[in-house]
Parts: sequence; structure tokens; C-alpha cells
Amino acid sequence: MVTKALVWGENVHENNNKVVAGIYPTGMHTCIADALNTCAGITASTATLQEPEHGLTAERLAETDVLIWWGHAAHGEVQDAIVERVCDAVWGGMGIIFLHSAHFAKPFKRLMGAPCNLTWREAGERERLWLTTRNHPIAAGLPDHFELENEEMYGEPFGVPEPLETVFISWFQGGEVFRSGLTYKRGAGNIFYFRPGHETYPTYHDANVQRVISNAVKWAHNPAPRIANPNDAPNVPVDTAPEKITERGPRLHHAGEKGFR
Ligand code: ZN
Repeated sequence: MVTKALVWGENVHENNNKVVAGIYPTGMHTCIADALNTCAGITASTATLQEPEHGLTAERLAETDVLIWWGHAAHGEVQDAIVERVCDAVWGGMGIIFLHSAHFAKPFKRLMGAPCNLTWREAGERERLWLTTRNHPIAAGLPDHFELENEEMYGEPFGVPEPLETVFISWFQGGEVFRSGLTYKRGAGNIFYFRPGHETYPTYHDANVQRVISNAVKWAHNPAPRIANPNDAPNVPVDTAPEKITERGPRLHHAGEKGFR
């Protein structure tokens, strides 16, 4: 089974910040996709904010098993209609991975239904990520802990709903800790949030980080057919109920009515 990954990059800092451009000359999204394409069983392509419909047409999402999202400076420029389209795809079964500052990305906030806020500090601190569960598929092949010499600090409290699983916990040199690898399910879609990836550090060139992302792509892939209309809420007429019933009492809706939204 081949997993088709699509790496979405906001692609802003790479074009207006020399440090970021130096670390990621072809863009962070391309760096991540290149690493994924070295993994057996994954084919990765890219899309960016600047493309028509942000590169996320209905056709493109329909053929995507797992979408990876990196955004920071331009969360507000993502069109709401595209956000809804992405969330519909997730509810229908597409996997999605949110990286680093995508904690404030519109689709992440929509899917979490929470502020998704945190504390932060940009001081090039050492980050040490600890596995919480050795046998989790997202942790496959990783040591019990690994370090990133320079990272931005994200600290608790992290304003997200309680996750299904906390796969990683990060410690920072300044003393803060953070739940840095979290899994969720929304509708039929698997969601993974992974913390590292501040744009002025070479985090996505790190072999352990690349391993986490490729593991997460495989974990998030739901091979079941995509649910075509995950927002459907059909009225079931009396005569099609599984058991025979007789209608009684007053009612608000007309037979066959679509119902309120
Ligand atoms: Zn950052």
C-alpha cells in the first residue's frame, strides 16, 4: 500500500527571511516532501498558499491520504472555504499532520474547537523529546529520547482538548515542558500534532524528526474509502425505520424535510 502525502507550506518566511531561505532554499515543504520520498511506501508532493485555491482543490484532497500542514505568518490569509474543504476531507477520512506553529492554523483550531494557545520563547534552546510509549507506531525506530540543539520553546499549558494519546513530551533548556506529539480522531480522520519545526533552525533536516513525520504519515493513513459527505444528516421517514412504528404526537418538521443547519 502506497500512502500519498501532500505537504502544504505557507511558503512566506522562505521568501522574505534570509536565514530561513539559507536553511530551506527550496522551501520547508520541499525539504519535508523530499525526506518523505526517501521512505518506502510513501509518495509526497507539495502545495503552497500562493497557488490557486492554495493548491488544495477538491480533486487534490480527494487523492491525498495524508495532508501535512506548516503555517505561521499567514494563517489569516488562508481562505475560509478552503479551511472547510480541508476539514470536510478530514471528517471523511483524510489523515492530517499539523507541524509546529500550525497550532494556530485555521483548520487545526476548527478541528480542535479550542484556543490552541501556548507559551513560547525564541532563544535557540535545546529541546529534548521523550517518548511516552515505545511501541507506538509514530515512535517506531526512535530512541527513548532525542535532542534538537536549537529550537523555539513551546510551553504548557497547551490549550487543546485532551488527546487520544500523548506520544512525545518535550523538555526545554529553560525548564518548561510541552506535550509535543498528540493524536486525535475527528470524524473518520486521524490527526497528529508534532511540535518541532521553528523556521530559523534546521529542524526538518534532522533524521529523528524526519522519522517521526514519516511514521506519522503511515499512522494517519486511513485506507477505508473516503466518506463522500461527512456532514450529511438525513431525515429517516417513519416507513423506513428498521422496526415498524406508528407515528404519534406532535411534530415540528415536515416529511422529507432537510432540517435546520
Ligand atoms: Zn516557531
